Amino acid sequence: MNPEIKCWNCSNTFKKFSFFCSECNIIQKPLDLDSFKLFNLNYGFSINLKKLEYEYYALQKMLHPDKFINSTEKELLYAQIHSSNLNNAYNTLVNPVSRSNELLKCKGEKNKESETFNDLEVLNEVLDLQEVAENINCQKEKDNLINELNQTIEEDVEKLNNYFIEEQLLNAKKLTVKISYLEKLQKDIKNNVTFTN
Ligand SMILES: [Zn+2]
Repeated sequence: MNPEIKCWNCSNTFKKFSFFCSECNIIQKPLDLDSFKLFNLNYGFSINLKKLEYEYYALQKMLHPDKFINSTEKELLYAQIHSSNLNNAYNTLVNPVSRSNELLKCKGEKNKESETFNDLEVLNEVLDLQEVAENINCQKEKDNLINELNQTIEEDVEKLNNYFIEEQLLNAKKLTVKISYLEKLQKDIKNNVTFTN
């Protein structure tokens, strides 16, 4: 179980990490926490993004340097570290691919780059889409492919959620690789496919 966390200022103890002490209200020392723990979320793929965004901005407001004008340098430094950790954790959780990789890490599934493409079915699907992308001739075709990719990503994210619910971590890992490739392809098409006429 979690070791008890002790307030550096008043020695109050907590079971869960908190940015401020519930007794003395002083900012707490940053800990090395994963993105889920930092936001006090359960280890699950499905998260309420609206609620997360709200909490993120509320916490960033509390950690703003202006709030520490009368504090010690140590407290200001703690606030800056918290703020940067929150920023990283928020960005990790917002994107389905990085959220999935973070969750896999928390669940003990390591992500080795060498294992990336041992899934032939996925490889062929991505290669087919890449070929379609290379043969786009007009804006309409470009829009259609982007929409098609959007839909595929959406469906795969839904599937990914089910894999996590069923604890099928290896399948979740494979599907995450596929979604990351689809996202990359979609970004490439958006940024790089242009027409001269
Ligand atoms: Zn305290």
